[in-house]
Amino acid sequence: MSFPTKFIFVTGGVLSSLGKGLASAAIGALLESRGLTITLQKLDPYINVDPGTMNPFQHGEVFVTDDGAETDLDLGHYERFTHAKLGRKNNFTTGKIYHSVITKERRGDYLGGTVQVIPHITDEIKQSILSVAKDVDVVIIEIGGTIGDIESLPFQEAIRQFKADVGKENVIYVHLTLVPYLPAAGELKTKPTQHSVKELRSIGIQPDILLCRTDRFLSEEIKSKIALFCNLGVDQVITAKDVDLIYEVPLIFHQQHLDDKITKLLNIWTRAPRLEDWEHFVEKSKNLKDSVTIAIVGKYIHLQESYKSLNEALYHGGIANDCEVKLDFVDSETIDEANCSQRLKKANGVLVPGGFGSRGIEGKINAIRYSREEKLPFFGICLGMQMAVVEYARHVAGMEGAHSTEFDQDTPFPVIYLMKEWFDYKSQTIQQRDVTSDKGGTMRLGAYPCILNEDSVAFKAYKAPEISERHRHRYEFNNELKDKLEQAGLITSGISPDGQLVEIVEVADHPWFLGCQFHPEFKSRPMNPHPLFVSFIRAALDCK
Ligand code: GLN
Repeated sequence: MSFPTKFIFVTGGVLSSLGKGLASAAIGALLESRGLTITLQKLDPYINVDPGTMNPFQHGEVFVTDDGAETDLDLGHYERFTHAKLGRKNNFTTGKIYHSVITKERRGDYLGGTVQVIPHITDEIKQSILSVAKDVDVVIIEIGGTIGDIESLPFQEAIRQFKADVGKENVIYVHLTLVPYLPAAGELKTKPTQHSVKELRSIGIQPDILLCRTDRFLSEEIKSKIALFCNLGVDQVITAKDVDLIYEVPLIFHQQHLDDKITKLLNIWTRAPRLEDWEHFVEKSKNLKDSVTIAIVGKYIHLQESYKSLNEALYHGGIANDCEVKLDFVDSETIDEANCSQRLKKANGVLVPGGFGSRGIEGKINAIRYSREEKLPFFGICLGMQMAVVEYARHVAGMEGAHSTEFDQDTPFPVIYLMKEWFDYKSQTIQQRDVTSDKGGTMRLGAYPCILNEDSVAFKAYKAPEISERHRHRYEFNNELKDKLEQAGLITSGISPDGQLVEIVEVADHPWFLGCQFHPEFKSRPMNPHPLFVSFIRAALDCK
């Protein structure tokens, strides 16, 4: 295929949380199904340089890429729906853009000039977009926030200018809005959409495709009305209907020929789409034979967005076993030794996910002890693994008062601690940190290799001697206490190639007890479920 790189900008109107990220990911999936190579990028209007320092309660999950970028959770959707390899350049925030412009200003790059939003900030935004446009047919760029927000104006202005820069035949604008159904009036309301498009046009952007989020398919009459008021053809108005399953979105769009329309508007010729994998996955998801209940013991349980990738990975692991995974979110703060069995009695497996801060820590340790002693399948991720080590140290290895120094600086047995100095194979440098180090971007982040012990649950799941998984944590397993823990029976089944970092621990004589220092959930895909999740759900089913 030979045509210049094409650009699709996805904006949103009326209100947030309409599913812009999913819509962008689904468009990516459809274009890939036609043989195109694509990438995606998210432009976020907030001032944080990245979401790494933001509270999951406010912002949802922080998604980590192989190159160690801490990014918006929409990048998780992009990776799950497409084959795009994403990294640092696929997520820019206002903070990152300004940081770069101010660094250049201090260096003297604009010497003599007055540095302004237009052109300096808008140019920097356009450069960021172009930075991901190499070697792909189409780039899909999602603009965070809602049209009309003051803080996203520079992004909106930049994408308006972009069309003139790269040629109008190479750019389309997709706008996602809401068409609510009002039960009292018994009808769908188009006014919010009309206003949102008016707002978009007032900043100089005429949408090419409107995706209308509704609870039912739009009639031709409604579509015509929207088209008329928004200066569009009827065939440019698409229903983005609510679905039970997010993996249906590409199929719903395809039924309405969205991929065909986009390729025509961008003047690209492609093969016919192949969506058998998606159809098969959705079909399978709707005909599950069995079910298991997994208790997720954590503190962000009231906001499911905080565990987005985790929920998806469990779902994928379930589908691979023809099994529905019911999630029982248990607030770790409410678990004590006395009520633990009561709180977890419905569960066929227990998962303690990653987290920060001491709140609910003892509840997590209680849940882990219960799972170990009652031989309930247990999966500990990052903080969950660290607490599994603490639990084992305290109750099996006789290390009374053992803890992570994140929560107890004076513990007599710091089984998890802050490694003051370690060799980072990626940067080939010695890294140093202590409690006073900067918090932003200073954790062990991104993909690291790990060698598996062949006689382990991990090896049986992965069926490979070496793996690579993504990390996001500050604290590590303390090697000085490793011998003592191993003598007490703890198995360290995954270790970094230099032997310095313990990445996986297991417990013998247990159907499935595994803790990993990394976050496997970031690499699970619907059509390529993560081996640890497949194996964990299998164990939960077997123990039912
Ligand atoms: N708080 C722990 C650490 O920083 C675990 C982090 C996590 O679970 N992502 O090491």
